[in-house]
Amino acid sequence: MNFSHYFLQYPEHIQTQVQQLITSGKIEHYFKNKYPHAHQLQSEKSLYEYTNKLKQRYLKNAPNLNSVRYKKQSDLVKNALGTHTFKSHQHGGKLKAKHEIAIAEQLKNAPEALLKVLVVHELAHFKEKEHNKAFYQLCCHMAPEYHQLELDLRLFLVLQQLQLSFY
Ligand SMILES: [Zn+2]
Repeated sequence: MNFSHYFLQYPEHIQTQVQQLITSGKIEHYFKNKYPHAHQLQSEKSLYEYTNKLKQRYLKNAPNLNSVRYKKQSDLVKNALGTHTFKSHQHGGKLKAKHEIAIAEQLKNAPEALLKVLVVHELAHFKEKEHNKAFYQLCCHMAPEYHQLELDLRLFLVLQQLQLSFY
């Protein structure tokens, strides 16, 4: 299996390191060491509470978060791992807005730190629609190791594809 398309946006030396980690088989050891446990947020209620807590801490003035749920995602490279949808509709003459976050089902048995990457990413879209500098600054504010964790999240997907997920 070739996973290079997961890492195309990274500098070449990172891509080389990643490739070595995978082909040498050290990826499993790397993960077991760094992330010994999976998170326990199996229900959508607990996922919602987890997300909303982060939102209240970092985005106090943002509108209400209506739902957070796990969603089956077939192609994780093409499709985003998470989505933030903003729907507005007329309701009794008033414009009502709804914020919904969906997290790829594959993250149900991920380490907490990697779930957090996605949650933080989708929360940041409350403030910034685009993936610009301000967006990533906000992500790093909520999760200081955001960039490293995002890379690890991609490695986690490789593990799953290799059926090496041990959580
Ligand atoms: Zn995004």
